[in-house]
Amino acid sequence: MASLQLITYPHPTLRHRSKPVLRVDARLKELVGEMFEIMYEFRGVGLAANQVNLPIRLFIANPSGDKEEGPELVFINPEVNKAKGIVEAEEGCLSLPGINANVKRNKSLQINAYDMSGNEIKANIDGFLGRIVQHEMDHLDGVLFIDRLAEEIPRSLAEQIQAFETMFETKQKSGAIAKNEELQAQLLEWEQKYC
Ligand SMILES: [Zn+2]
Repeated sequence: MASLQLITYPHPTLRHRSKPVLRVDARLKELVGEMFEIMYEFRGVGLAANQVNLPIRLFIANPSGDKEEGPELVFINPEVNKAKGIVEAEEGCLSLPGINANVKRNKSLQINAYDMSGNEIKANIDGFLGRIVQHEMDHLDGVLFIDRLAEEIPRSLAEQIQAFETMFETKQKSGAIAKNEELQAQLLEWEQKYC
């Protein structure tokens, strides 16, 4: 199977609600390794599986953005509880390159998840990691940060988003990106393997 690739808006997998992971195998461990490589290559601090066209409830994060520094975190089947407070800050997304805007997020939360070895993770988090977690959790539900902008979308931003849509349409027409039915079939294949 081909290696993973970052997908960008408006790829339909970004709007797909990801399914819980029921099995972790050696291949999935390799895929998570590839996800970290992609995240560093594009200078991100978090990446959800569906951003590389894997429709499963898993995301990775490294708040330092630095491979040498860590920590490299993997969250499988994450759930958020006890979300409290509101804090507004600027966000970007590897699937919407070049776009930054302010988003309101909870200030602190508790995350429950599993790591790659099946160990339970239960942590109270806030600050930058808290923001990353909320952004990535949204991805797993098919929600993008542009759906949650603190202010009305400025015209320039709306035009950038429109440009992504036009480019995607053109690529799909030319065959550079597979048609939606084929993309749907790819998702089903992954879901049959891991969900
Ligand atoms: Zn994102």
